[in-house]
Amino acid sequence: MNSAEESASLLSSPSMTDIAQITWDAVIVGGGMVGASVALGLGQQGMSVLLLEKQPVDTDWNSEQAYQVRVSALTRASEFILRNLGAWKGIEARRCHPFTAMHVWDELTSGNIHFSAQEMGEPNLGYTVENSVIQAALWEQIETCDAIQVVLNRALNGVRLSQNNDRVQSFDEQKAWVDIEGIGEVRTELVVGADGAFSQVRQLACIGLDTHDYEQCAVVGCVKTELPTEDTCWQRYTADGPFAYLSMGKYISSIAWYLPMEKMQWALELPDDEFAKEVSKASDYRLGSVIDVGERAAFPLTRRHAEHYIKPNLALVGDAAHTIHPQAGQGVNLGLLDAAALVETVLAARSAKKPWGQRSVLRKYERWRRGDNAIVQRSMEAFDWLFKQDATLKVPFRKGFLPLANRLTPLKNWLMAQALNGREALPKLARK
Ligand SMILES: Cc1cc2nc3c(=O)[nH]c(=O)nc-3n(C[C@H](O)[C@H](O)[C@H](O)COP(=O)(O)OP(=O)(O)OC[C@H]3O[C@@H](n4cnc5c(N)ncnc54)[C@H](O)[C@@H]3O)c2cc1C
Repeated sequence: MNSAEESASLLSSPSMTDIAQITWDAVIVGGGMVGASVALGLGQQGMSVLLLEKQPVDTDWNSEQAYQVRVSALTRASEFILRNLGAWKGIEARRCHPFTAMHVWDELTSGNIHFSAQEMGEPNLGYTVENSVIQAALWEQIETCDAIQVVLNRALNGVRLSQNNDRVQSFDEQKAWVDIEGIGEVRTELVVGADGAFSQVRQLACIGLDTHDYEQCAVVGCVKTELPTEDTCWQRYTADGPFAYLSMGKYISSIAWYLPMEKMQWALELPDDEFAKEVSKASDYRLGSVIDVGERAAFPLTRRHAEHYIKPNLALVGDAAHTIHPQAGQGVNLGLLDAAALVETVLAARSAKKPWGQRSVLRKYERWRRGDNAIVQRSMEAFDWLFKQDATLKVPFRKGFLPLANRLTPLKNWLMAQALNGREALPKLARK
């Protein structure tokens, strides 16, 4: 029996002992938006997947549910990944909102740039979706996929990897082992670390991290405004940092307000009416006054980049591999591209009858994604530097940059294509 048949015969009534007896094609730690996508991408192609998640995921949905604090602006590439995994219908059935324009302006120089879907010949520029909606829609698909076995709320006690497996020819030679509380050591061809920014898998695999503290936090939440959002994402560069309204509906926006760390507590503790006034001011009343505010939260911002995305029989994806300044809303979009690229790499190796945990196979995934993610991280830093209002020397350049980019059609189209689809070499799952 191969491992898929072996797991299929056990999955109908799995017990913790059964789980330890199977050699899994992949063990994925973390069932957030990115880990759940890898699980589906592999599971839907018949690979046996063990998915570990710390927290239960609620797939129930009630349309009266208040807007959640965490929202992502998804690119078209992410939309296609979620469509190809069968999760998009679950997103549409819950709640999502297309945005058709993006307007960015600078408080200091009044320069601005405007992107519209119409100019790009696209129906929209992307969708704003609550993270819990994306995760629920993915998990709804996981529930229907027989090849995926879920283990909830069990501690990860350890990960054991083979040393150098490039000469391994057969699937039986070297593997990785994942030690799970109450189950014991589970054998697998591939461990996927999709366990977020503080990834335990990354730490257990002794993979170093390059970090940079932005000394900023993002205050997020949903608000209702006096004027309609015009299905637009509005971003203003202010003295404190960028402020953004992401359209979630006719009068509803998700805000992302970037502030110096010393203002984080202040922003969280302001009474709702004062918070509404400060948000209206930060946006320069672009949507009139804020008339209602929901729950809010704040996140300190750090750039992180894992020194390696892979080791023999192990790969990192999503925030476990990289976190970036969210001002251009790219974090989960990059993570979903990682997921799609890893799935494609593994499936290609399986078709070629090669062990997909082999370092030389996984290197293809690393080469595909690491450089791309580094470029996006660095461009975010360049923006952060340019728009920090501390150096008057930058002002002439800033004065020119947005209006010039707005007039130069090729530059504008290039900027937009990056934002819509990510860079070149899109994985198959990310294509229409
Ligand atoms: C303020 C803010 C705004 C953002 N806005 C955007 C945006 O507009 N667009 C965008 O693309 N990105 C945005 N991002 C980034 C985006 O939220 C992240 O990139 C994304 O959530 C990463 O997804 P992930 O699945 O890799 O990790 P996570 O969402 O962190 O998921 C990790 C999962 O692993 C589980 N886990 C952790 N440890 C274990 C363990 N030991 N065992 C089992 N399970 C475990 C967790 O419970 C969780 O479910 C934003 C980020 C911030 C902070």
